[in-house]
Amino acid sequence: MLDIHQIRKQFPILHQEVNGKPLVYFDNAATSQKPAHVIEALTNYYQGYNSNVHRGVHHLAEKATHAFEESREAARRFINAGSLEEVIITKGTTEGINLVANAYGRAFIDEGDEIIISTMEHHSNIVPWQMLCEEKGAKLKVIPINDAGELDMEAYEKMLNERTKIVAVVYISNALGTINPVKEIIRLAHKAKAVALIDGAQASPHLNVDVQDLDADFFVFSAHKVYGPTGIGILYGKKAILEKMPPYLGGGEMIKEVTFEKTTYNDLPYKFEAGTPNIGDAVALKYALEFVENVGKDNIARHEYELLTYATEQMQDIPKIKIIGTAKEKAGVISFVAEGIHHFDLGMMLDANGIAVRTGNHCTMPLMSRFGISGTARASFAVYNTKEEVDIFAKELKKAIEVMS
Ligand code: PMP
Repeated sequence: MLDIHQIRKQFPILHQEVNGKPLVYFDNAATSQKPAHVIEALTNYYQGYNSNVHRGVHHLAEKATHAFEESREAARRFINAGSLEEVIITKGTTEGINLVANAYGRAFIDEGDEIIISTMEHHSNIVPWQMLCEEKGAKLKVIPINDAGELDMEAYEKMLNERTKIVAVVYISNALGTINPVKEIIRLAHKAKAVALIDGAQASPHLNVDVQDLDADFFVFSAHKVYGPTGIGILYGKKAILEKMPPYLGGGEMIKEVTFEKTTYNDLPYKFEAGTPNIGDAVALKYALEFVENVGKDNIARHEYELLTYATEQMQDIPKIKIIGTAKEKAGVISFVAEGIHHFDLGMMLDANGIAVRTGNHCTMPLMSRFGISGTARASFAVYNTKEEVDIFAKELKKAIEVMS
């Protein structure tokens, strides 16, 4: 049993009033809040050992390098990567996908090749592939979904052929909460000799991720959704693939030797880490991942699932509400619309009562079109949320709908 009261104590931001009401933060799929340890890690870095990494021999530089590399090790453990060479520190999920689309895509995608994504992708797992397809004359194919928001696996299997080169699919949909069968998706991609990239932005805070068990070729996530800072993320890539990929950005750090005639590149993972990285936030990532490890992913998943079930039940009693995304395998995200009421107005009414939910298309415009809507209101849960907060949310939502009807 988790002691949510103790967990909440670790998050300073939660203890405030918004519009005269205690804050209920249900926008965790956009970004999660940060425990005090993570905030302190940032302050400690800037107050105690701010310095550039991998370059200096002096005390502060060594300390910063050590802390930076400790975070890489924490990330490796977090997703069970086989080696540190496979763990590249990025700005976030978006940069990770762009890195793969540019470095792997530019080298290995040719005219007539095919890239498969799904209907429920975030724009960051659509646009980089579209740009690549445009440049190369390749074709983008999209796995359809059913009305519950589940992937049509039969259609996917039929799409695969000898022209398929990349399959890029989200693990948990940020807009629907659907948990996709990514292990099977990867297995089928490999059968067709394609590589598979998994967008783990939403999965990393909620599920135990084991990239080796999944057999993912690439796996990306953002620190800020896992109780860590913004502007930092991880790209996992299999060593054999990363080795044959050309670099993405050129500059300092990613080189071994530079002459005007020729440059040789650094070893992995540094080949993909050009320039001074976001050191302070990278250092703090370790503390965020340790927070998750200490609470336990299974405990987090169980708690969030309880909140999801509880909130779903409560919302079924509210007139005019329709939940978008009713997959059997679902994480703690509830997207909903209310008949005749704009989602933006719902969000404003909830905010007036201290409740933070997300409204809009959630960077999934094609998915919204699939459901014939322009957007939804979305409540998404984290480990520090409580059933009492769900009660407040359901009560205020009901009132808002009565007022606006
Ligand atoms: N994919 C998914 C499923 C997401 O939820 C998000 C963030 N909303 C992203 C990708 C992009 O992540 P970031 O903005 O941190 O790069």
